[in-house]
Amino acid sequence: MTKTLTINNREYSNVPIKTSIVICLDGSQKEYLDEASKLNLTPNLDKIIKKGEYLLAHSAMPSFTNPNNISIVTGQPSSVHGICGNFFYTPSTDKEVMMNDPQYLRAPTIFEKYYEAGAKIALVTAKDKLRTLLGNGLKFSDKRAICFSAEKSHEANILENGIENVNDWVGMPVPEVYSQNLSEFVMATGVKIMDEFKPDIMYLSTTDYIQHKYAPGHEVANKFYTMFDKYFGLLDKTGATIIVTADHGMKPKSKKDGSPNAIFLQDYLDSLFGKDSTKVILPITDPYVVHHGSLGSFATIYLNNKNDLNAVINEIKKIKEIEVVLDKEKACSTYSLPEDRMGDIICMSSEYMTIGSSEHKHNLSGLNEPLRSHGGLHEREVPFIINKKMDQIDPTKQLYNYDAFYYAILGAN
Ligand SMILES: [Zn+2]
Repeated sequence: MTKTLTINNREYSNVPIKTSIVICLDGSQKEYLDEASKLNLTPNLDKIIKKGEYLLAHSAMPSFTNPNNISIVTGQPSSVHGICGNFFYTPSTDKEVMMNDPQYLRAPTIFEKYYEAGAKIALVTAKDKLRTLLGNGLKFSDKRAICFSAEKSHEANILENGIENVNDWVGMPVPEVYSQNLSEFVMATGVKIMDEFKPDIMYLSTTDYIQHKYAPGHEVANKFYTMFDKYFGLLDKTGATIIVTADHGMKPKSKKDGSPNAIFLQDYLDSLFGKDSTKVILPITDPYVVHHGSLGSFATIYLNNKNDLNAVINEIKKIKEIEVVLDKEKACSTYSLPEDRMGDIICMSSEYMTIGSSEHKHNLSGLNEPLRSHGGLHEREVPFIINKKMDQIDPTKQLYNYDAFYYAILGAN
């Protein structure tokens, strides 16, 4: 019998014979790839799809970056790993806590378990906010693991990242945090790592700066996918099994005049129930607000008085553009969310709408283009591309982006 590894209640194949690579193309709604392909801008991708698989999967909920990156690297939804947003609120302390610290992670990563089994691991992320979560449990002293971000590539050192002098090594300076270069750095480094470090398992995670600004088919977006295609082709040539997926999709969320389409839910609830009776939490909020002004499609609401539950739900139900409004229990069981990190009510907006808290709290000055955002059910469909045929995927079962490592490792054994 082949040896397997049990990770978060799933049986994974042994350390892969060839390299297994998962690429998370942040915010890559399927249409981005399709539009670039139509103009013949992604010849490698087209070739790879022909010999492999082009499937669609669901993301974990909420369809945000951190929960989904962590889902991909643990193979489970946020009910298991606990990371359900960029931050969460604790009513007992009245504090909003950033969730990018490993102490909030409730499950080991796939990397940690394979590392323990003797595998060589490489992780490169665009933004530094994910790095410590992704690299949790890895040891860097024996040169068997690399984990660093493009954003802080100049600070990478052996002790914390398993690598140093990254910029000289890759031949690229530290990229601007709001740029396509940040993602290109990740892809270029991935190719270099394959050539020289030769890991057993590699994860590359880009940033959705371009996708928040430009629609599928826009020339800037097309340029991004042309860039991606070049490196994807080089990675494919190494013989690795590669799965390309996304953490979430991306939808246009602006009015005809270009201003953001948003329901300011805190203002609405304050006007009905009075100040401080409800607290609207938007888990999309993070220090990189230029992309989205903290406007996404998902919100959770804490009630000061639990007896208000039905009344608040009923008032939110009157808002046509909020499609989902559920109490915590129902929402957490339906969407695999961690109950203790969610408010009493969970809501999600319709395809072209976002949910804000109080209008004056949103700094929209960085939004130079019409808003594009994510977080709800309309942004959970993501591509799932494999560079080889894979019969083991059951087409009758829902595929998730967090199945990516399972199949990438299976395919490389
Ligand atoms: Zn994202």
